[in-house]
Amino acid sequence: MSQPTAASPSAAPRVNPLQRIWLREIGMERLWLRPAPAPSRPAVEPQVPVSKEVLTEGAQAPAVGSPPLAPPSAEAPMPAAVAPAAAAPVSEAPAPAASAPAAPASGRPGIPASILNRSGPPPRPVPKAAEEAAPPPPVPVAEAIRNATLEEMHEQVVACAACGLCKGRRNAVFGHGGQPTRWLVVGEAPGEQEDRQGQPFVGRSGQLLDAMLSSVSMSRERDVFITNVIKCRPPGNRNPKPEEIAACSPYLMRQIALLKPERILVLGRFAAQTLLGTDATIGSLRGRIHQLKTDEGVEIPVVVSYHPAYLLRSPSEKARAWQDLRLTVARLG
Ligand code: URA
Repeated sequence: MSQPTAASPSAAPRVNPLQRIWLREIGMERLWLRPAPAPSRPAVEPQVPVSKEVLTEGAQAPAVGSPPLAPPSAEAPMPAAVAPAAAAPVSEAPAPAASAPAAPASGRPGIPASILNRSGPPPRPVPKAAEEAAPPPPVPVAEAIRNATLEEMHEQVVACAACGLCKGRRNAVFGHGGQPTRWLVVGEAPGEQEDRQGQPFVGRSGQLLDAMLSSVSMSRERDVFITNVIKCRPPGNRNPKPEEIAACSPYLMRQIALLKPERILVLGRFAAQTLLGTDATIGSLRGRIHQLKTDEGVEIPVVVSYHPAYLLRSPSEKARAWQDLRLTVARLG
């Protein structure tokens, strides 16, 4: 390493990286690193040892978003005026040059009173990136849902703002049906008509569903409760997003726990995959009984069938849907 040499009067004072961090943190970096006035000091000055306090402060990681530190230069020596100040506690920092900016409330240019009045290091501003990286808060209503009655949960759903779907809804659709509930029918999410009326399956799909239920002597007024995985209409009937499913699922699980249906009939791939926690195709899920274990450890038989909207587009599949209904009835014994 080359020996330190005299600094030219116009050169910026040299500080080591730790001192630079410290100066930056107290808002003095630009002030101190301006070119120094004409020196009244020996041509060659020894490097001032860095005190333990400065090492401790400097050892902290620079704040996120700080520019990278300039590499230490072996050329210019540290000016005597800078080195002690950098090593000294902040409150002992020498007053800067007269041309410094006007003094704020602290009486020290560039140093806020909040920093001068404390003995420790200055507070680190919370970097924006760190704020944004913070994990999202848990679904706020989860605890309330777990303890709700059906009526209370209905009110919670109507007022729910746990995901972005609340912004576009006309009505949340809690579900509707008879109790005690023999079958719980679970669809995907409200469509336009359901959003308008606040009731599940009231459009063309709903008419077909009613006809299907009626064919096995079941009725939504008497013994079937109908609801959806998602309680608010996704814009344009798009597929629900994972975060929307996560926010809404506690409602369905609590409905199942409270209604204690004898059977669950799940309509369509989305609802089946969500309720059974699988990626399997609807073709592979149909034709057999699945078991859904509730939080209370009760197992409820689940039958998967086609969504009525699909049956309206593909009427030839109604025969299979009929088999699914028969399967659901038969297992009721
Ligand atoms: N489709 C669904 O999945 N649910 C409804 O309530 C209406 C249409």
